Amino acid sequence: MISLKHINKSYEGKTVLNDISVDFPAGKTTVILGPSGSGKSTLLRSIDLLVRPESGSVEFPNLTYDYSKPISKKDSFSLRQKTSMVFQNWNLFPNLTVLKNITTAPMTVLGQSKAEAEKHAKELIKRVGLAGLEERYPSQLSGGQQQRISICRALAMNPEYILLDEPTSALDPELETQVLRILEELCKQGQSMVIVTHNMDFARLVSDKIVFIEDGTKVYDGDTKDFFENPTPRIKDFLSGIS
Ligand code: ADP
Ligand code: MG
Repeated sequence: MISLKHINKSYEGKTVLNDISVDFPAGKTTVILGPSGSGKSTLLRSIDLLVRPESGSVEFPNLTYDYSKPISKKDSFSLRQKTSMVFQNWNLFPNLTVLKNITTAPMTVLGQSKAEAEKHAKELIKRVGLAGLEERYPSQLSGGQQQRISICRALAMNPEYILLDEPTSALDPELETQVLRILEELCKQGQSMVIVTHNMDFARLVSDKIVFIEDGTKVYDGDTKDFFENPTPRIKDFLSGIS
């Protein structure tokens, strides 16, 4: 399990996350929902230190990092090893082939041999239905294919958690479906995930728990079924697209 405890973050004096505590259970999918600008990305990025809150802590089994204290290089390295982030715009290296995009970090960061990294990469590429495209460059793939490769790149690091920030919001609906199917599969296999999404059908289908935030404050933290079946008036408005 990963737990964030009493996270506070502000930008230029404006509070973006206000004393948020949330647990992300292992082997489960947690979906973060909320209106645009509510602090979802900031919260997600706090987990792997892409964003550094002013106070609060992130806790892993046997490991606690207090954001208000200096975090050593060694600690931030081991923290980042536990998670892999998948971004909205996939961010593949344009000058590297699909295979090299996936194998570079396992070789340089995890010290895997080329043979070992390539074997794993090829298995992952096959798993997302893209076998045969290993030697292509990102520009030769559709957006949906690029996002599937960036999911492979995240998985290649053998992270405990995959963090996904609106993984399909830059994709056309038919390409979105391909990516969602892969995430659904990972979810069924018990991959620990934290996903920010605007796709309510998907959130309902895959998540074990929902965290709803608004203006940097946690409004809901609990069971997915309850969220959708017994919404508060505020959540009802959100679900009906009013805000
Ligand atoms: P969401 O992902 O829910 O749309 P964000 O976490 O991206 O929201 O942003 C929350 C708030 O913090 C927004 O008001 C946004 O403008 C502000 N914000 C985010 N990142 C920065 C930054 N690097 N500098 C200044 N303000 C930021
Ligand atoms: Mg965001």
